[in-house]
Amino acid sequence: MSQGQRKRTGAAPAGGQTRTPEPRTVLELRKVTCAYEAGRPAILDISFSVREGETLCLLGPSGCGKTTALRAIAGFEPVVTGEIHLESRLVSTPGMLVPTERRRVGMVFQDYALFPHLRVAENIAFGLRHLPSDQRAAQVQTMLALTSLRGFERRYPHELSGGQQQRVALARALAQKPVVLLLDEPFSNLDPDMTGKMREELHALLRRTGTTSILVTHDHEEAFAIADRVAVLNNGRLEQFDTPEAIYHTPSTPFVADFVGQADFIPGTIQNGKVSTEIGEFPNQGGYQGSPSVMVMIRPDDVHIVPSAHCPARIVARQFRGSENLYTIGLPSGHIVHSSEASTNVYPLGTPVELQVIATHTVLFARDSAPGPDA
Ligand code: ADP
Ligand code: MG
Repeated sequence: MSQGQRKRTGAAPAGGQTRTPEPRTVLELRKVTCAYEAGRPAILDISFSVREGETLCLLGPSGCGKTTALRAIAGFEPVVTGEIHLESRLVSTPGMLVPTERRRVGMVFQDYALFPHLRVAENIAFGLRHLPSDQRAAQVQTMLALTSLRGFERRYPHELSGGQQQRVALARALAQKPVVLLLDEPFSNLDPDMTGKMREELHALLRRTGTTSILVTHDHEEAFAIADRVAVLNNGRLEQFDTPEAIYHTPSTPFVADFVGQADFIPGTIQNGKVSTEIGEFPNQGGYQGSPSVMVMIRPDDVHIVPSAHCPARIVARQFRGSENLYTIGLPSGHIVHSSEASTNVYPLGTPVELQVIATHTVLFARDSAPGPDA
């Protein structure tokens, strides 16, 4: 695979005889359960795989098991059930744990865990003691260049900014050419104004080096910006494993729908293949097959409002977000929906509005599985 190519597009070239082979699987979790206390699993029955060169994000709220999954992959945590395969080698199963140092995984911890008494170059060289000194020095130089740390090699960690410390941690992990790089909330210790820049830098670095990686985050925007595929965890369970686009447009559970962006849930009823709701009729796009009583998930990007004197829906709130205005619309039933409007479309509170809904994100869930409309 050429450098910088988006690995998400796995399609073979049309008409050509040279099919791009599917990237090989580097890591596979099969029904993995981990528990710190017997009978209280921190992750339960988790299965996913990571392809060579891919960036996978583990996404979910605090306490959902992201770090535990990463620790199990690194070999710090044994599994209670299931198997972990790294480069087609079984590395974890109940009663068996290949130790971390024999897994060739790279770790970037939340606090970077740099050696405070070692200079930048020594930190990067730390895992390379097995190499002859000329090769070690060359590898350190390559890493310094890759992470834009040339000129900083003689500094100590406390003489660096947060962003520079993170680059040292990355350089140290990448220097060992890991089969998979594991990053646990790598931006959580950076100033918010640094996060966007570091995110872009990391993204470019992972692409340039073709590094297979798993990045843990609770921030869906971060996951969407960086990941080829996203695994959404909730309460120790994997709720969906797919591309960022599929996770956003066709969430497989109400939890995922709500976690990855603003989502409203409006009651509806399926009749003759269509779902009718208080704000209109929509096609049953996803081919929902359950009971006719449904909740329809709608995203604000699909709801457009037009002031209209005789309509019963009213603007009840407006949040100015710079690039958009997010309106909260009260419906006669008491349900609410949100509408994303251009930042220049400013209407007073109380304005009666007509709703125009473009049904690209109308995903249907059984009514008893979805949160209430105001959740
Ligand atoms: P996340 O990284 O998504 O915030 P964790 O994997 O750290 O979640 O935690 C998952 C669950 O396991 C939580 O309920 C947490 O309280 C529990 N847990 C994590 N580490 C330990 C530990 N060392 N001992 C006992 N329970 C733990
Ligand atoms: Mg964590």
